[in-house]
Amino acid sequence: MREVCQSASLVLHSSSVKAQIRKAINNLYDAYDEVGGKHYTLRIKGKKLPLEDFEYNPLAVGDYVEFTPYSETEGLITARLERKSAFVRWNVKLEKNQTIAANMDQVAIITSAFEPPFRPRFLDRALSCVQSCDVIIVMNKCDFDLTEEEFERWALYHKLGYRIIAVSAATGENIEEFKDLLRGRTTAFVGQSGVGKSSLVNLIIRPEKKQVTGEISQKYQRGRHTTNHALYLERDDIRIIDTPGVRELLVPYEDKSVLADSFIEFSRYAGECEYSSCTHSTEPGCAVIRALEEGLIDPDRYTSYLGLLDSLESRKPGYLRTKFRKNKQ
Ligand code: GDP
Ligand code: ZN
Repeated sequence: MREVCQSASLVLHSSSVKAQIRKAINNLYDAYDEVGGKHYTLRIKGKKLPLEDFEYNPLAVGDYVEFTPYSETEGLITARLERKSAFVRWNVKLEKNQTIAANMDQVAIITSAFEPPFRPRFLDRALSCVQSCDVIIVMNKCDFDLTEEEFERWALYHKLGYRIIAVSAATGENIEEFKDLLRGRTTAFVGQSGVGKSSLVNLIIRPEKKQVTGEISQKYQRGRHTTNHALYLERDDIRIIDTPGVRELLVPYEDKSVLADSFIEFSRYAGECEYSSCTHSTEPGCAVIRALEEGLIDPDRYTSYLGLLDSLESRKPGYLRTKFRKNKQ
């Protein structure tokens, strides 16, 4: 009997299995095979997977991979399966695009009302990193008041069609409503350091744990969840890909028209621009600029767009250097 089992598992080992990356640290990947209900530790076969030009990391948390098991719990990744969505930022140091999370249904961009203050520029940059999924814009620390100007700017995202929600990890305000938006879906949490992202994740994933403030938590780090790498977490029907807090998020390298797509209010007019490849900046006959002049597009959002367009242009020469054409890992 034992022999039969062993040969059956050998057959299994030789065939390819599909799994989802749940944690990625130093070329070691924790992955979950949903069909077999098993966790594996995986490495990339030959330490290389094909990369797109200017892509830094071949795999991110949320990616589906094919792998060949070589033991009950280990295997070699042979391929990354197509992504349905991603959160991708520009990594300044590496001068490459870095995928932070993949295959989520939505991204929750966490901002805060105070310390750090609400930064619409940061939010617009974060929105430009979202590829092919829904967005929830979360204002944490709503136990603090926004200035009237900040409130107007925040409410603008609602007018533009984004789902927005104000919550407080400290008082628990609107947390149940927020959880309702997360249920049944996989959500990547992203945000600037200090906005309270860890507090929110802890509250949702480990509500039974007493929540503590930043200062006190220094002493009680064990058991409290903080992040320096992306991590897949789940509880009940809520699945979260928590990502490290960042100081800044920069728009990934991409076609300029893709950047314009992340300014959703432009789309209504962009089709009427005189040039099909219009960047809505200097071109004559630009319908987006016309809409701006007619007060149909918010001037601050447009300024924000120009800033992002500028940052894409100033990066351009880097790509022409041949060393970035190699798929180094
Ligand atoms: P992260 O860097 O985004 O993970 O932020 P943390 O969760 O570590 O929170 C940063 C600081 O903000 C800590 O001192 C928290 O106690 C505090 N904080 C988090 N959420 C809230 C909130 O809703 N209201 C208030 N007043 N403080 C909060
Ligand atoms: Zn245009």
